[in-house]
Amino acid sequence: MDYGWRPYVPVAVRRANAEREMARLRKKGHAVSPVIVEGRAIARTFWGKSWCRNLERYSDFSNRLPRGRTYVRNGSVVDLQLSSGSAEASVAGSSLYKVKVRVAAVPKVRWQAICRECAGGINSIVELLQGRLSNAVMERICAEKTGLFPSPAEIEFSCSCPDWASMCKHVAAVLYGIGARLDERPELLFALRTVDEKDLITKAGRDLPLGRLAPAAGRVLEDATLSEMFGIEMAETSPTGVGSRASKGSARGTTEGAKRALRLVKKPAEGRKVRRRPE
Ligand SMILES: [Zn+2]
Repeated sequence: MDYGWRPYVPVAVRRANAEREMARLRKKGHAVSPVIVEGRAIARTFWGKSWCRNLERYSDFSNRLPRGRTYVRNGSVVDLQLSSGSAEASVAGSSLYKVKVRVAAVPKVRWQAICRECAGGINSIVELLQGRLSNAVMERICAEKTGLFPSPAEIEFSCSCPDWASMCKHVAAVLYGIGARLDERPELLFALRTVDEKDLITKAGRDLPLGRLAPAAGRVLEDATLSEMFGIEMAETSPTGVGSRASKGSARGTTEGAKRALRLVKKPAEGRKVRRRPE
């Protein structure tokens, strides 16, 4: 019970009310995503546990968070949506409350430092997301205030309940709910912090990785353009043997549409280049 004067709403009734509301949202096409905690532990994986531990280590939060544990365990977080830099949730209390959490992006300099210091230590996204990391990398990622997890100053929250000025139990439940969600979808931590987890892999062993990404992307485009041009050039440069070359090579097994396109390409002997891709 929140306050003496507020009518007590039994859990079963709260749950039924919440379920009705969620059913309404589902009907409207909203992919309702409740936080389900099985057993006592709110989180079990490296990412989920590290998220919860991070919250608990700050004294600003530590005395308020316990109120959220029961709430998240008993399924009160009936919908949680995580996206880039924010979380939105519906929490079943005396009525259904809306909680919003904003998480600041990792400052660029800090993110670069994390990537630099973890360079070479993480071999793949799978290893990263499964939390199969060396102790040194884990420590760096979890470092207080300089790691990947947000400090209280980097978390803003609000709740539609009358009690949210200080962290209410609905907000606390949602903060824990994020930890539970990271067990299933650890990549959402990187979304919440507005950083790209691939940076931790691709930047391995390189000091100035940003400069490297652009040329690589450029090269892929060039290759595509080249292969597209290859077929056209072949058709264009052979005045008589076009048909046979095309049917031996690129046109073998292609559709009528592609053959038609090749025939069209043959035409502009008169000078105009026609760039047509086979359909
Ligand atoms: Zn609240």
